[in-house]
Amino acid sequence: MEDIVEILKQKTVGKTLTVCGWVRTKRETKNAIFIELNDGTCMSNLQCVFNTSDAAQLEAALTGAAVEITGTLVESPAQGQPVELHATSCKVLGPAPADSYPLQKKAHSLEFLRSIAHLRARTNTFGAVARVRNAMAYAVHTFFQDRGFKYIHTPIITASDCEGAGEMFQVTTLDLDRIAKSGQPVDYSKDFFGKPAYLTVSGQLNVETYCLALKKVYTFGPTFRAENSNTTRHLAEFWMIEPEIAFATLKDDMELAEDFIKYLLRWALEECAEDLAFFDKRIQPGLIDMLTSVYNSKFAHISYTDAVKELEKNKDGFEFKPYWGCDLQTEHERYLTEKVINGPVIVTDYPKELKAFYMKLNDDNKTVSAMDVLVPRIGEIIGGSEREYRYDVLLGRIRELGLDEQAYSWYLDLRRFGSAPHAGFGLGFERLMRYVTGMENIRDVIPFPRAVKQADF
Ligand code: ATP
Ligand code: MN
Repeated sequence: MEDIVEILKQKTVGKTLTVCGWVRTKRETKNAIFIELNDGTCMSNLQCVFNTSDAAQLEAALTGAAVEITGTLVESPAQGQPVELHATSCKVLGPAPADSYPLQKKAHSLEFLRSIAHLRARTNTFGAVARVRNAMAYAVHTFFQDRGFKYIHTPIITASDCEGAGEMFQVTTLDLDRIAKSGQPVDYSKDFFGKPAYLTVSGQLNVETYCLALKKVYTFGPTFRAENSNTTRHLAEFWMIEPEIAFATLKDDMELAEDFIKYLLRWALEECAEDLAFFDKRIQPGLIDMLTSVYNSKFAHISYTDAVKELEKNKDGFEFKPYWGCDLQTEHERYLTEKVINGPVIVTDYPKELKAFYMKLNDDNKTVSAMDVLVPRIGEIIGGSEREYRYDVLLGRIRELGLDEQAYSWYLDLRRFGSAPHAGFGLGFERLMRYVTGMENIRDVIPFPRAVKQADF
């Protein structure tokens, strides 16, 4: 049994083949019956042509049915495909009744498809998203492995809040119903871990420990944020890639981020050409040109302070008025990358109040050695920084922010023993996917999105 992607590539005309897949459409003319067969190995269908006398065995070969078709590959007389299958037999493995199968041949809205996430992978759009997602995951590993980075598995359950930003999902085995009814306060010493535990919001703190042992490391795994924001950019469960490099500064970090993004874009353009052509045509016109131009560009750099000056020139154009000290909103980020720079831009040296405690304090004592990579249409795609590697300064920041010193004792140890400058960043995998596919809603670039009030399937 062969994959359609290989059949269409090799075009072994004259060969007898057996192909399995799902019927996209069946169409009858006076002289023949056509089945468009898709097996998900590529975007293209294999056109299978039957004699009209085969009508009986094709009765249940309706849109959505799983079938096994045997025939001979021939050059296609018609336009649209180089080869087609002159089919002699069709076995219906699993029918899909026309009156109940929801994916009949017609345009479906993305909202509707979200409500049938268990079937949407059988559409052109979601098949393409899944293939590109797979390719991007492979590219991520290839990029780092080729450069000698070690893949580290950081824990999913954690007792420390990395960002200090809250928004964590609690993990507990306590019987909350019973405790609530009893009116007693919760006794976490009785909980599974003997203390409150959460799903991780980032693997960074843990991966830093391996960075300061193996020099170049990365994580790539699920992260969780209980963000109560119903946006097209936020999920409650998303995947993040976090490289961390030792004996490195922000400059090295920015170079790595730029190389990484460009590598991923080039990979997508080369390895996912058919799927990207689909996205370019149907989802985001100009997508391929845009990705190609980013791939060929040099990322601009601008300090947060200068970025705010640029934003202030356009004060009235924003919902949130920009000022020095404000957190950059997506509208600000997009203005910077789309209007001021017209390409990817790395914003550096943010006010320390806006960033996490572990970022390296600059000499001005006001800003930290942080960087966000902003790209057109998306805004922030990467957030990173040089880490505070000076023990005293880090301890000072932890105290200043009122964080639990004890909980971070192991993290502080990294600065007590063999500390070294190091830096890293986080790339949201689904943000990358939105960027590469042109899909608007982040819920459409992950198979089963988890967001506020949404955890079906
Ligand atoms: P934003 O301001 O867009 O919410 P952030 O500043 O909270 O992002 P970081 O904490 O720096 O993001 O996380 C690193 C990266 O993870 C971000 O650059 C982004 O690509 C991604 N990311 C963050 N939050 C989410 C989310 N809820 N869903 C999907 N990706 C996310
Ligand atoms: Mn956020």
